[in-house]
Amino acid sequence: MTDFIPYGRQSIEEEDIAAVVEVLRSDWLTTGPKVAEFEQAVAGFCKVGHAAAVSNGTTALHAVMYAAGIGPGDEVIVPAITFAASANCAAFMGATPVFCDVRSEDLLLDPQKLENKFNERTKALVAVDYAGQPCDYDLLREIIAGRNILLIDDAAHSMGGEYKGRPTGSLADISTFSFHPVKPMTTGEGGMVLSDNEELIEKVRLFRNHCISADFRQREMSGSWHYDVVDLGYNFRLTDIQSALGLSQLKKLPDYRERRCAIARRYDEAFADVEEIMPLEVAANVKHAWHLYVVRLGSEQNPLDRADVFQRMRDAQIGVNVHYVPVHLHTYYRKKFGTKPGLCPIAEEQYKKIISLPIFPGLEEKDQQRVIDTLLTIIGK
Ligand SMILES: *Cc1c(COP(=O)(O)O)cnc(C)c1O
Repeated sequence: MTDFIPYGRQSIEEEDIAAVVEVLRSDWLTTGPKVAEFEQAVAGFCKVGHAAAVSNGTTALHAVMYAAGIGPGDEVIVPAITFAASANCAAFMGATPVFCDVRSEDLLLDPQKLENKFNERTKALVAVDYAGQPCDYDLLREIIAGRNILLIDDAAHSMGGEYKGRPTGSLADISTFSFHPVKPMTTGEGGMVLSDNEELIEKVRLFRNHCISADFRQREMSGSWHYDVVDLGYNFRLTDIQSALGLSQLKKLPDYRERRCAIARRYDEAFADVEEIMPLEVAANVKHAWHLYVVRLGSEQNPLDRADVFQRMRDAQIGVNVHYVPVHLHTYYRKKFGTKPGLCPIAEEQYKKIISLPIFPGLEEKDQQRVIDTLLTIIGK
């Protein structure tokens, strides 16, 4: 039987396992020294002042919304093509996600379409580095200048990438990573919030730990047992076990990115002359993190049925996927916020054509060749 090739997967090596085992033998499984060490390492890697580790990329975004003071009556602009978590974070806090259409060439939020999304309730803009390509942050800043809007980078796809020589995580007012196994590096589950704004990061630290105040003067006054819950928070903590894995993975992130780039280049070459397979465009001033390799299927002369290609790839044991169903088309959003088809026409049109091909550091050349040959055969090339 042929092996199944997933669209993404982690790379775990002996040193990762050893790092985790070392923590298991230590005194601290959670809220210990590895968490702070991991936060400092990621902040250093991304050239950002402060970082707070959290339980996953979704709680990272939720904590950012809390830190920004976003609540009922506020609006948060989000691109239509992303994982639902990018928009859910606004809904968690009782705010309203406002969907902005994407550009057909790269499926990144279209800066041209932002202008009519702003009003006095707009509090934040969540830019998503879709597929691993950083957005044009200088342009986004220019557009929101003077409006008092927090610029957030949902960098779940783009850790290790760069924009104009600056690393992702440092590009917006505040940024989030996910360490899910398919993402650029993993801690099993995990996330991080990064910012140069210490006040925002302190609020994230509060929120991830039940909003328990760490005011030690108070403690000294009323006895060492004293603590105070100052607001409604959660347990969004990352463990030392996960942090040790993260520290070990971070060392290999640049190498992982190189391997993803090489895979993307081979796909680019294989499909260069095939008009039915259209990769996304990449800007000249970015270093792409290649979390996803997305192509649009079909041409004017030869429109292809995406569902059919998808099923035949799956039948051939190739784990293609579709990233993503436009968020405003999900049942929850239609029911709660009244969104409907036609709201973001480019996203909806592109969604019908996209398919994600396998890309991950451990994808072997012969397996990638199998992906290429199978796809070309299916579309009749
Ligand atoms: C994966 C992902 C998230 C959520 O991260 P989790 O760690 O899975 O909670 C958020 N936004 C985007 C764009 C993602 O791809």
